[in-house]
Parts: sequence; structure tokens; C-alpha cells
Amino acid sequence: MLTHLECTRCGEHYPADRPQSVCPKDAGILYARYDLATIKRTFSSARLAGRAPTMWRYDAVLPDANPVSLGEGFTPMLLSREYPNVYIKDEGLNPTGSFKARGLSACVTMARHFGSKKLAIPSAGNAAGALAAYSAAAGVEAHIFMPKDVPMANRIECDYYGAQVTLVDGLISDCARKVAELKDSEVWERDGWFDVSTTKEPYRVEGKKTMGYEVAEQLGWKIPEGIIYPTGGGVGLLGMWKAFDEMEKLGWIGSERPKMITVQSAGCAPIVKAWDEGKSSAEMWPHAATLASGLRVPKPYGDYLILDILKKSGGTAVAAADPEILDATGHWAKTEGIFAAPEGAASLVAYRKLRATGFFKPDDTVVLFNTGSGLKYLDVFDANTAHGAAGASPASSSSKTPTTRPIGGIIGPY
Ligand SMILES: [Zn+2]
Repeated sequence: MLTHLECTRCGEHYPADRPQSVCPKDAGILYARYDLATIKRTFSSARLAGRAPTMWRYDAVLPDANPVSLGEGFTPMLLSREYPNVYIKDEGLNPTGSFKARGLSACVTMARHFGSKKLAIPSAGNAAGALAAYSAAAGVEAHIFMPKDVPMANRIECDYYGAQVTLVDGLISDCARKVAELKDSEVWERDGWFDVSTTKEPYRVEGKKTMGYEVAEQLGWKIPEGIIYPTGGGVGLLGMWKAFDEMEKLGWIGSERPKMITVQSAGCAPIVKAWDEGKSSAEMWPHAATLASGLRVPKPYGDYLILDILKKSGGTAVAAADPEILDATGHWAKTEGIFAAPEGAASLVAYRKLRATGFFKPDDTVVLFNTGSGLKYLDVFDANTAHGAAGASPASSSSKTPTTRPIGGIIGPY
């Protein structure tokens, strides 16, 4: 039912029967488009009952290819113990411990489908681990270009999954340059390479959009008043918004939409800045620094789409400082029993702020996304214990500030 790819800038159509990256005319992000009218006639949301609890339960609205699956998706929608109308969508329970599993499952599925042999990604975080795992499962090569100072879990998991890891003395921009050099070389075409960088190919968005389908299905096809989403590259935000449009065309929901809220780290908040200034695209954030490595994206490639969604949905953008993020991580662990990634805990910071300003009322249903497991950040938390809410306060780390430890890994659009 996948009919074509469509440019999100100029609307040009491209065939979906071969690998594609971005629009050749204007470098716009390409979206997969389906024959939704036919799907509406042949499939209904009622038929989802009893299907496998993975994101591939929505295969009616995903590309028709043999899935490379490790059981990703259909993560728990946990009712908060603290706020009666808040749900925590716990993406930390995905394979490889983060929401990146969804996008890479879909992306590697399509890369294998098209016969790609070597998948390249400039990354320093959870996307690298997910690409490594899904490439192992697919029997293709993962080539990961990471800064030398990446979080320990991401480096070790990539090694164990058998990925080819190139440690680069520099930031993600330097890693991306390595991929670009490869792309210009004669081996790229000859050896079946493919670039799976964030939003530089159409299928990571397709995997991530299943979060939108799940939010609707798990809330009984009711749409919440708000969704708070930690936004680095913003693929999930784009994907969920796309999912709501598809579900409306399928007759599964009406025209209602959640207010879409971006939360970023105060140490790297290009979307928040652009939103506050009323701009339609973001500027490169200088000297990005935050312990939430997944939010170190100084200029997301999909900035124009993210800002458009915030506007259309009546949403907003909120910044959370590293000490607030650490405090929220400890608070969630103690009150909810959820050990969140710092990026995920930033959602709680944003919710508190939006409640304080009256943006959200106590009876508004709001979904907070925890994008990953805190277990992948043990070295980060350990180095910042004095600022955390976990109760431990070893004197040795008391002089450190959260931003002094270089984590590297701007997961970027370069
Ligand atoms: Zn275009």
C-alpha cells in the first residue's frame, strides 16, 4: 500500500521502489505515502486486537517488507502515581533500551529489502546501538562513526553487536564528514553502502510514527490534550503527527489533535529559541553542552517541520536545565519506579513548568515520553551524583557540574 514518497518542502513525488535519501531539488525530508483509502476499506482498528505486541501490529500502514524485528514497540503506557491524568510512555523497555529501536527496525528492514550491504551512521548515542543491533539481526554491516568520548554503554553495545566502530577525534559533525567522504568515494555505490542518518532517509520516521498509533490505541482511540516529547532530531514528533493525520484519513480518530510539546535541554535548545522568536527554522546552537546526550542536536534537519507542528497543534517548546533534569530523573525513579534516561526525565520538568503556568490544567490528559532507560547512562549519572536526587553524594564528584563531563555525540544533521 506504499505508493510513493513525497517531499515535505516542495511536494514532489518520488518512487518508493528503490533507496531514496532526501529531495534532490531542495533537500527536503521525504515522507512515505500510502493508499489510505484502500487500507480504510480493507482494514479497521478493531482488527488490531490480538495482534503481536510490537510496532509491526500496524503493518497495514508500514512498508510491505519482511520486518527485521527484535520485539520493538507497544511499550507500556503507565498511569502516573503522582499525577492522575498523566501517562508515561516508557520507551526504555524497547530492544537496546531506547525509542531508537523503532526507527532503526523500519530503516534496516527497508535497507535489507533494497539490498544495501553496509549501513553508515554518524551517531554517539542510542541510535548507534540500535543500528548495530538491527544490522546484526539483518545480517548486514553497521558502520558507526562516533566521537571518542561517547557514553560507555553505547560504545560497548556497538562492539558486542559486531558493528564496525570508528572512533573520531571530534564531534558528530566530524563523524558526519567521514560519512560524507565515503559517500563521495567509488566504494559507496559499488559496495552497497547506505546512509541512515536522522531524516536523511524516509523510513526511520515510519518506525517512529508507530508511537502515535500506540498512544491512540492504548488510550482507547482517545487523543490526549498534550504530548511532551524530548526533541533532539525530532523524528518521533514528526512521526506521531504524521500518524494522527493517517489515522484521521483511516477513520480511526477524528480531527482532534494533542498539543505537541518539545522539551530540550537548556544547554542545547535551538527549537525553543526559534519558537520563542517566532521563526520557522532553527539556527545552529553554539557550544552545545548537556548531559542528556540525545538532546545535543544543535540544528535538527527537520527543524522546519517540528516548528510547524508546534504551531499547528497549539503546542509550545520548553527548556530544562541539567540540574532540573537530574532532579526529575531521581524523582521519577522514587515516585514512579521508572529509571528514565535524562532526555525522558526532561519531560517531567516540562510538565511541571506547563502546569505552573496554567498551560495544562490538572484534568488535562498528557502523555510524557520517556525515550530510554537510565541504565544506558550509568557513567553519566555516576559522574553527576552530587546533582542528582538519588540520595548518594560522594564527595569526589561534588565539585563537578553536569556540563563539565564531555559526553560528545551531537546527533546531528550534518
Ligand atoms: Zn523537494
